[in-house]
Amino acid sequence: MPERLADEIAVVDELVGDRAEGWDLAGEIPRELLRKFGAEGLLCAQVDAGHGGRGLGSRDNGELTAHAGSRCSSLRSVMTSQGMAAWTIQRLAGPQQSAALLPQLVSGKLAAVGFSETDAGSDLSTMSTTVELDGDSLVLDGHKVWVTGAYYADLLVVFAKCDGGAAAVVVPTSAPGVHVERVADPMGCRAAGHAHVRFDSVRLPASSILGGPGLPLPLLVTAALAYGRISVAWGCVGILRACRNAAARHASSRTQFGKLLTGHQLVERHLAELFVAEQVATQACAYASECWEAGSPDLVVATVLAKHVSAGNAAKGASTAVQVLASAGTRDGHVVARAYRDAKLMEIIEGSNEICQLILAEHAVKTAQ
Ligand code: FAD
Repeated sequence: MPERLADEIAVVDELVGDRAEGWDLAGEIPRELLRKFGAEGLLCAQVDAGHGGRGLGSRDNGELTAHAGSRCSSLRSVMTSQGMAAWTIQRLAGPQQSAALLPQLVSGKLAAVGFSETDAGSDLSTMSTTVELDGDSLVLDGHKVWVTGAYYADLLVVFAKCDGGAAAVVVPTSAPGVHVERVADPMGCRAAGHAHVRFDSVRLPASSILGGPGLPLPLLVTAALAYGRISVAWGCVGILRACRNAAARHASSRTQFGKLLTGHQLVERHLAELFVAEQVATQACAYASECWEAGSPDLVVATVLAKHVSAGNAAKGASTAVQVLASAGTRDGHVVARAYRDAKLMEIIEGSNEICQLILAEHAVKTAQ
């Protein structure tokens, strides 16, 4: 862990303490604690100092995200949502919108991003949520599903069809016509505040549209997803670090058949596989972050690759860690039991395994020599 992140890491450690298991079992992180975390600028640490943020580069923000992910994937999921909202604003908003919105996101307001709908999951082109312009106002109608962090959020960045193209709209959850309904009993990241959100003729100032109406939907969604993918990828590195540490500690202290588990070669193979999974995911994320910082044209593919490798490795690695701990790791809420449930979801979100493979296959063909 870079020493320059010592302050940030100390705040994460203090705020999480030994509470992650309790949050998972209760299905909730205290909102005030999330606000405290947000007010430290840690939920979207990439926001620049000019807007009151910490201005971390992609690599440092990634290491911070991995650390949070190693402690609590639900908290890390809330970070990903807030970071994605902030990044979408950073990419699309004009100076006045940025000046109004970004300081809120680093001073305790909580945000989430809604693009998925019941009939628009992997294929977002079929989304049916709409924004109609009406003089100085806009009217938002539709429904978003599975929005991570929406249960806690003060603000939502919502994607909708608009004016022959699309729009990203900033919607206060307190606005009349916004209805937030908690997802009951998600399989993993149980305290991440997933919610379905309905918008019934929500009237807002037209200036709530980031960067103006009628932009191409793929451009809008790619801006949000790029951040979401690299954040999830680093979060998966955190899951792998937690799993490797738990498995190594257990295998070094538990004796069966007269010797430590580390003395049984089949268990050693599990530990080697976990170490490889963690290192490979870390390298893939580090390369993607390097591309972000350099503004490299490889950025999109490197980010998809990092997300795909890290999520797959985390899902497999968490399963391996449970295997090493066996009964000791199968108590609900235990760090490896949580990892097992949380990591599987990472293969579905921000571009499922299959959608990542489609993007990577297209690149493989395009760049073939
Ligand atoms: P579908 O699109 O119906 O896909 C079903 C299966 O078919 C998948 O395996 C998929 O990979 C595969 N598939 C689909 N199309 C193809 C294809 N062309 N080729 C090959 N295989 C294909 N949404 C938000 O807007 N905001 C959030 O914050 C958010 N957070 C989430 C958190 C969690 C824990 C979960 C589970 C979901 C979240 N989502 C969020 C929704 C998420 O983005 C979608 O679940 C995801 O895009 C997949 O859509 P779907 O579930 O409708 O699956």
